[in-house]
Amino acid sequence: MSEQEREPTARQEAAPLLPMPEDWSRALAVVAHPDDLEYGCSAAVAAWTDAGREVVYVLATRGEAGIDGLAPEVCGPLREREQRASAEAVGVRRVEFLDHRDGVVEYGVGLRRDIAAAVRRHRPELVLTLNHRDTWGGGPWNTPDHVAVGRAVLDAAADAGNRWIFPELAEQGLEPWDGVRWVAVAASPRPTHAVDARPGLERAVRSLLEHRTYIEALTDEDPEAYCRDFLAGGAGGAAARFGGVPAVTFELFPR
Ligand SMILES: [Zn+2]
Repeated sequence: MSEQEREPTARQEAAPLLPMPEDWSRALAVVAHPDDLEYGCSAAVAAWTDAGREVVYVLATRGEAGIDGLAPEVCGPLREREQRASAEAVGVRRVEFLDHRDGVVEYGVGLRRDIAAAVRRHRPELVLTLNHRDTWGGGPWNTPDHVAVGRAVLDAAADAGNRWIFPELAEQGLEPWDGVRWVAVAASPRPTHAVDARPGLERAVRSLLEHRTYIEALTDEDPEAYCRDFLAGGAGGAAARFGGVPAVTFELFPR
């Protein structure tokens, strides 16, 4: 086990979470699947778009392998529609898909290039992704797509600024962008920063609820109660480390 993948120490678990940086205007969120941002951090996104910041979503797949009873060719377009509606619910109007294959996303040069191209297109100061670590914090094992995409996002934030890595991107008119100042990883088992979840929480519930087909296949609970319990429970769990304020947490990697 590498140093990096060790479980957080008791001291790290108890350390106060710092407020997320506020001095930025454009964020790009890159995740593996429809619903990753809605389970991960959309209450924070709602607060940011309220403040006039631009947030763009890029998804590596259309989540076409996510529902047992639906064939991928039916599921993909349906989940794309649900994702666009869930983005709209928190003020995000641009959603793009990289068309990697759901469930078997491969970490590698191709994925890094696609994400670096997205960073160059949108020129964000803040890049968001979902937990790239092996577990969700000592408990359930993470999925390979989240690990592959999260790691590739951390790498591509730097690749995007280097003229000589992926020179074909500049030939396509995508000039280097070295302006990414932070990569923030949502739902990490090692959070360092947080955003007050309260102003955006109701819209985050609406946003997660837009993934209705997925959620109805996942649980017999009332979908709205399920979404509210999940998001309010997660935010409440972080409050002890954020001055008693329910929070969306991030592990922040400055560049
Ligand atoms: Zn996912």
